[in-house]
Amino acid sequence: MEKETLAKLLEDIKSLPKLAKKSEPAIKAGFIKIKKIKPKDLDSFVQQKDSEYFAHIDCLNCGNCCRSLGPRITEADIDKLCKALKIKSKDFIEKYLRVDEDSDFVFKSMPCPFLAEDNYCMVYENRPKACREYPHTTNRKFINLLDISLKNRETCPIIYKISEDIVERYT
Ligand code: SF4
Ligand code: SF4
Repeated sequence: MEKETLAKLLEDIKSLPKLAKKSEPAIKAGFIKIKKIKPKDLDSFVQQKDSEYFAHIDCLNCGNCCRSLGPRITEADIDKLCKALKIKSKDFIEKYLRVDEDSDFVFKSMPCPFLAEDNYCMVYENRPKACREYPHTTNRKFINLLDISLKNRETCPIIYKISEDIVERYT
């Protein structure tokens, strides 16, 4: 059943923002309750769902985050990428990055310049930390990531589904 739901979400990924907006008030209300309850097993529940759902979804059939979200790029990310690409950080920044409204480096434009046509990441081994962690469902203290997850539901079918599961389980 979950496999089918995820497959449908993936098939119609363009409708995900609309779908997420429609259910946002209910999910948001659920998240507010969860922040008050502070369930002790939230991290393990989310991590279990992460493993379950990523077993059904191949990100190479999606690539939606790499097409639409700009990951925050840290100095450490820049160093790593520059070493791998054998490019000076000044040139890398000039070519690929801009500073956003939070004063963070992000890619100048999306889709990401390192996203290949077949959805492969051309810098996979050296991709930014934010890319490695997305959609943050294996992060600890997930309770602090509920607000960002509310937004990420518009992009990623995995966090869309996990958000529903969390609200169903704890509220
Ligand atoms: S660096 Fe790789 S994983 Fe990160 S957004 Fe670009 S293509 Fe996606
Ligand atoms: S992390 Fe989510 S949005 Fe990104 S490619 Fe995988 S399923 Fe798609």
